[in-house]
This record gives sequence, C-alpha cells and structure tokens, in this order.
Amino acid sequence: MSAARMIDGRAAAQALLDEVACDVAALREAGIEPCLAVVLVGDDPASDVYVRNKVRRTREVGIRSIEERLDAHTCEAALLALIARLNADPQVHGILVQLPLPAQIDAAAVLAAIDPHKDVDGFHRDNVGRLTLGESSLVPCTPQGCLLLLQQTLGDLAGKHAVVVGRSNIVGKPMAALLLNAHCSVSVLHSRSTNARELCRSADIVVVAVGRAGCVDASWIKPGAVVIDVGINRVADGAGQTRLTGDVDHASVAQVAAALTPVPGGVGPMTIACLMRNTVQAARHLAASLPASLPASPPIPLTLAR
Ligand code: NAP
Repeated sequence: MSAARMIDGRAAAQALLDEVACDVAALREAGIEPCLAVVLVGDDPASDVYVRNKVRRTREVGIRSIEERLDAHTCEAALLALIARLNADPQVHGILVQLPLPAQIDAAAVLAAIDPHKDVDGFHRDNVGRLTLGESSLVPCTPQGCLLLLQQTLGDLAGKHAVVVGRSNIVGKPMAALLLNAHCSVSVLHSRSTNARELCRSADIVVVAVGRAGCVDASWIKPGAVVIDVGINRVADGAGQTRLTGDVDHASVAQVAAALTPVPGGVGPMTIACLMRNTVQAARHLAASLPASLPASPPIPLTLAR
C-alpha cells in the first residue's frame, strides 16, 4: 500500500491551461494575437512528438502557432537567419528551438541569438542571469512547473531544505535558483557528489533530474519528504513493449514520502502548460512595449516575492 499522496500534474496543468486560455482571450480582445513559433531541425522522432504536442496545446489555448521545420543538414547560418527573421517579426511573441540540434549547429550560439523577450524556454543567458539575480524573467518551463507543484503541495517553501539531484542547464541549475529564490536552503547533487544519498536523506524536498530509471529509491528519502520526479526514461516492460518511467523508484519511495509526482502524469504536463504561460507573458511584454497598446499588466506571478 502506498503511503505517499500522488501529486496530480495533469490536473494542475489543466488548471494552469484554463488560466492561460482566459489570458489569451483577454489579449485577443485587446487586439493582440499571442503567437508561438516552434523551430525543429531534423527528423528526430522524440523531438517530433514533443513539437507536435506543443503545437496541439498551443492551439487548444487559442495561441497562434507557427511551425518551422528545417532539414537535418541545415547549416547554423540558415538557422540563425530564421531566428533573426522571427526576432524581427512583431506578430511573433515566443520562439522555441527544439533541442537537441544536429551536431553541425552550435546550440549555445542559437539560444543566444533568440530575442530574450521572446525566449519562452528561458534558456537565453539574459534570462538565466535574471533568474539567478532573483529578478522577473522568462523561467525555464520544467523547473517552473516543478516549483508550482511544490507550492501547491506545501504552500510556503521558506526554510525548507531542498535537494536537487542533477545540475543540467535546463532543469537542475534553474530549479536550484528557483528554490533559492523561494527561500529554501538548497543542495545540488551531481555525478561527482560523494555523499549524495546522505545529503538527500536530510531533505524536505527532493527534485530528481538525472535521466536514469529508478536511481533514487527509498533509502535516499526522509520520511515525509515531498519528491518531484523529473526523469523520463523509456524501459522494456517485459512483454516486448516499452513504457515510460521516472528517475525515482516509485514503489519504494511511495512508502516513505509524503507526496510524489507520477511518471507519466506529473512534471511532463506542467512543462507544456508553463510554456503556454511563458508565451502569454512574452506577448504581454511585447504588447506593452508598443505605442498605444495594452495598459501595462503585471508579470504573471511566480511567487518570487521577497
Ligand atoms: P542531463 O543534461 O543529462 O543531466 C543529468 C544530470 O544528472 C547531470 O547534471 C549529471 O551530473 C547528473 N547525474 C548523473 N548521474 C548522477 C548520479 N549518479 N548522482 C547524481 N547526479 C547524477 O539531463 P536533463 O536534461 O537534466 O534531464 C534529466 C531527466 O529529466 C531526463 O530523464 C530527461 O528526459 C528528463 N526531463 C524531463 C522533462 C519533463 O518535462 N518532464 C524535461 C526535461 C528533462 P553531471 O553534471 O556531473 O554529469
């Protein structure tokens, strides 16, 4: 019998998408049609699925969607030219370049070329810097979704000890910055950490983003901790098929944690909902910067108030 409460990421994401749809309707009423451009280079099947899901959700909430699909042999200059065109287009509010990019393209150069105000992935170094400084910015979608789930589960996070397992630029590092901005004491673990299990076992909050199925089990978790499983791993199900599973060994962790996100149905839906939220935030920002446009509206709160 599982003791942990399952955190319903699908329900939380739907509530967020409903809010986004209302915001989009208000923007349209004011003559602004929020628009997200998604750029996919090559034919990686997983990336294709991610892009199709994002485009579907975009349309469902009333955001205009532009898909730019480029050949796998596209050179960096051609991709940068497309980014420059999208940056200059006042009808485009958000730009997302699906990662990974083919080897001939320098992903860092491409991310740096996106207008920071249209950077709905929050990967531009301006937005990374602003997040680190605790300033309002476009925040990477996956850690943003994790933070919202944690706040929904625990309320105020101030004073909690949070451990983030993984230090990637897209999940681990921004997650640590968000938790620090929410006044947690934060430890970040990685492949060179020596006493990872012991550190993790002292945490009130554990966010796992490693990419290795079941690498965190109950022996890593303090009784009553809240555990967010970011991992998405495809494993054999023993019947000749594959299934998705997280980085957390759910059967054992559910026995000790107070609450836990499932995979699928946890962080994944929140990631896409936060992408929609960022697109609305970007549209509001660009609209407010135009002459005779919307009255200035506050940025969408992310409970970062000090
Ligand atoms: P990544 O770039 O490969 O980073 C993995 C991190 O895990 C690295 O920082 C690595 O440390 C650390 N690590 C590796 N082995 C470890 C160990 N034994 N103990 C502690 N840390 C260890 O992966 P990512 O992009 O962050 O993604 C992580 C997982 O989240 C993947 O399964 C990915 O598919 C999933 N993901 C899900 C979503 C979603 O929407 N649900 C979004 C993004 C990613 P080093 O830095 O020392 O190498």
